[in-house]
Amino acid sequence: MAHAAEPLILLCNDDGFHREGIRILFRRLRPLGQTVIVAPDRERSASSLSLTLRRPLRLHRVKPGIWSVDGTPADCIYFALDKILPRRPDLLISGMNPGPNLGQLDAHYSGTVAAAFQGSFFDVPSIAVSTIPNALGRFFLNHAASVVYRLVERILAKGLPQGVTLNVNIPAPPVLGLRITRLGRKYYTREVIEKKDPRGQSYYWIGTGNPESDGASGTDIRATERNYVSITPLQTDLTCEAVLGRSPFQKLFKGISLD
Ligand SMILES: [Mg+2]
Repeated sequence: MAHAAEPLILLCNDDGFHREGIRILFRRLRPLGQTVIVAPDRERSASSLSLTLRRPLRLHRVKPGIWSVDGTPADCIYFALDKILPRRPDLLISGMNPGPNLGQLDAHYSGTVAAAFQGSFFDVPSIAVSTIPNALGRFFLNHAASVVYRLVERILAKGLPQGVTLNVNIPAPPVLGLRITRLGRKYYTREVIEKKDPRGQSYYWIGTGNPESDGASGTDIRATERNYVSITPLQTDLTCEAVLGRSPFQKLFKGISLD
């Protein structure tokens, strides 16, 4: 029986409940609290914050502490909070994603980051964790889990600022330290690749090729390129504070007649 004061840690991802990254965290974070997985039943990468609204959802208890939902990462957070967990979790960790979520576009497209956003929308302290392979394409998930362990220890002790979601990217070892960063820019090809199927019909692929990164100083991209763990504080409020209430922006719509 868990101790009443034991922290409750919710784990989600966008790659499926069965994936190694989330399973390693399930075991490795156990000394820090009770860990529960509520994750999609299959790969749902790049699903962002999408919700399943037009068909019924199924919940499956895989084994003690591990649940799968045939929906999106954001769906899973609804299930975790309303159907599975005995109380609000002390922390939500989404990941570890096998691949980076770096730069503005990834932060928007990513189901890993979105699950953490969904936690934040429900006032749960939330972090997204992604891992970066080495030059040979090899991932070091046990190493990354040790980094996550240290971060979680600190977050459980100190808390996170209200309304802030963390986007954490962990490079392959050797890791030189931590950097607090802003989102950089990463450009994916806009190309839509067209092919023909055996019946002569066209089919298409988007999102192919290697993205180009602009790793300016202070960005998540720069930090991870230089072997630092990147921690970017994200906010769910998309309001552009930089122009809100500024006179050039106010003037832009001045005098428009809506008669
Ligand atoms: Mg993924």
